[in-house]
Amino acid sequence: MTTNTIFTGRLPSVLGSVALAGIGISVYSRYMMNVAHADSGAPPKAFGSGPAFLSLQLQSSEVVNHNTKRLRFALPTEQHISGLALTSALLTFSWPKGCFLPCVRPYTPITKSDETGVLELIVKKYPDGKQSTHLHSLQPGDYLRFVTPIPGYKWTPNKHSDITLIAGGAGITPMYQLIQGILNNPEEKTRITLVFGVNTDADVLLKSEFEDFERRFPNRFKAVYTVSNPVSGSPYLKGYVTKELLSKVVSATPEKGNTKVFVCGPPAMESALVGNRKQSGILGELGYTKDQIHRF
Ligand SMILES: Cc1cc2nc3c(=O)[nH]c(=O)nc-3n(C[C@H](O)[C@H](O)[C@H](O)COP(=O)(O)OP(=O)(O)OC[C@H]3O[C@@H](n4cnc5c(N)ncnc54)[C@H](O)[C@@H]3O)c2cc1C
Repeated sequence: MTTNTIFTGRLPSVLGSVALAGIGISVYSRYMMNVAHADSGAPPKAFGSGPAFLSLQLQSSEVVNHNTKRLRFALPTEQHISGLALTSALLTFSWPKGCFLPCVRPYTPITKSDETGVLELIVKKYPDGKQSTHLHSLQPGDYLRFVTPIPGYKWTPNKHSDITLIAGGAGITPMYQLIQGILNNPEEKTRITLVFGVNTDADVLLKSEFEDFERRFPNRFKAVYTVSNPVSGSPYLKGYVTKELLSKVVSATPEKGNTKVFVCGPPAMESALVGNRKQSGILGELGYTKDQIHRF
């Protein structure tokens, strides 16, 4: 059988079956979630632990900078919450015009898990990026399909006295989700240092949210920004996230044992920090063991 026959003949029927199975699972799990919600009186969750296949309508799309937009989607009702576990992402599905195959990519919501009625994404657009270009083209009233949650790191409150979060570019979204989840939990005591590396001053995302956390939790949250190509008079540190920078700004040391480092950024940044089979990486040189490092 030629490739062409497969795509013109069997592929649509296979995709059709997958879609039908997905819709069946989705309807059943939504039904079970609604039963559970009606029993407990708790707000209904848009996303459970399994597939969701949920289409959400875009309410607004705000330009954040030269390549980033903040997209606000309405949850199914104003009472719904996302119900996502801390550091989860959501797999999105679209079939952009002109694309031969559908596009499936994960994004990490920045809204709180218990925020009612809305779900927000911050999306950086890549040159020729299929899904990011599609998401940037969406207009209020359009829909986006969310396939399933993807659990991230299983966070346990107060397991660590201190954590260091090192983010690059759009890698800030899981860090933001973790930071707000920890600081908004009155039971938590964990101290957090965020080191955020970006290309230009305009790429420092969520700055006012981080400043607000610094004001509200001066002894528990500190954000450090470093910019590789700063404008003149930039208020930020200059350069990449280096060993010297981390030794200066992170007060929790790996020897204490009760600390962990989280990393999320472009591949080059992550391998410089975490290393590879041949090299230990900056964090290894600073004394962090593999168990003390989590890569989102
Ligand atoms: C768990 C998880 C959560 C994520 N959360 C977010 C989020 O909240 N916000 C967000 O904007 N993105 C997030 N991403 C990245 C997102 O899933 C897509 O990879 C990104 O939007 C690019 O998809 P695309 O289809 O536009 O690009 P593609 O069509 O896949 O790629 C087009 C071009 O862009 C380049 N490119 C793609 N991704 C990257 C990258 N990360 N760094 C450098 N170059 C790249 C490729 O090399 C290629 O040349 C997340 C990724 C993961 C794994």
